[in-house]
Amino acid sequence: MILDRLRRPLHDLRISVTDRCNFRCTYCMPKEVFGKDFEFLPPRLLLSFEEMTRLARIFLSLGVEKLRITGGEPLVRREVEKLIGMLASLPGLEDLTLTTNGALLGRKAQELKDAGLKRITVSLDALDDEVFRAMNDVDFPVARVLEGIDVAKAVGLAPIKVNMVVQRSVNDHCVLDMARYFHGSGVILRFIEYMDVGTTNGWRMDDVVPAGEIVQMIDLEMPLEPIEANYQGEVARRYRYKDGGGEIGLITSVTQPFCATCTRARLSSEGKLYTCLFAADGFDLRALLRSGKSDEEIAAVLRRVWAARTDRYSELRTADTTSLPKVEMSHIGG
Ligand code: SAM
Repeated sequence: MILDRLRRPLHDLRISVTDRCNFRCTYCMPKEVFGKDFEFLPPRLLLSFEEMTRLARIFLSLGVEKLRITGGEPLVRREVEKLIGMLASLPGLEDLTLTTNGALLGRKAQELKDAGLKRITVSLDALDDEVFRAMNDVDFPVARVLEGIDVAKAVGLAPIKVNMVVQRSVNDHCVLDMARYFHGSGVILRFIEYMDVGTTNGWRMDDVVPAGEIVQMIDLEMPLEPIEANYQGEVARRYRYKDGGGEIGLITSVTQPFCATCTRARLSSEGKLYTCLFAADGFDLRALLRSGKSDEEIAAVLRRVWAARTDRYSELRTADTTSLPKVEMSHIGG
């Protein structure tokens, strides 16, 4: 186990497999920035599945137990199920999951399951078709995402989590509908406070709907009680319905930051290692991989980078910090 300067162990690695996405969510990849002229990474600059797997193996040897595949949209990377298959058999891996917008999930769920994926997280910001189409900004219908979730369930991916980013006056009126829809379904619905990741979404504190408000709103109609975290450092605060209708989670990175227990490292699709979602730059691991360094040499670098880590952006956030340079969420994944 390796510890950073704030004595936090390295436990999770999120691997972004592409910087491209088939959605243009207004709060993540606004069209004005990520339009037709935007230059995404050319394939030669992306890590290959072999390179990702090699790095994952080294991370596992340093104490990582959990891998999450993300993007961009991970299901737009060709044959991503091959990567799942390569990672699933790595020694020391306790948990392998993937975060998707669900657009291609209906088509891909069986292949992912067959390759060794156990569970999945689907992002879905509204059930109201008009609101959803406006938020994804590519006119994608909500019914197709719900179909994808149903197929994922049918092929046995479990548990399924659904993440909803809540933005004031955009989709906060959709919270109760979502809660009602997934109540009793076995799906774990999680509400994410809208964050000031990147620099393109024009984030303002006023746009954040505090998790406490969301809990109150749901509790009034479907009474809730808090439950213990599954493990130390779990991102979501958990609540369960008192009537046995399952649980929900709240990801409170703005109103109740959890930097003190953050054990996550993030690898961008071009092989840069970020030690914080709000970092400006990452450490270039691709250069190490492609310059013939041994696993031991790379492990030594990872130890050094983690040992020097002091990041705790969310604890330090003020109106002034939001304009600092930060990597885009679509570049390193959620
Ligand atoms: N395309 C995949 C997806 O939609 O899940 C994976 C990448 S996406 C960047 C990961 C998650 O980050 C999604 O749930 C998305 O809603 C969330 N996200 C993006 N920008 C965000 C922001 N500013 N605040 C909070 N969550 C955000």
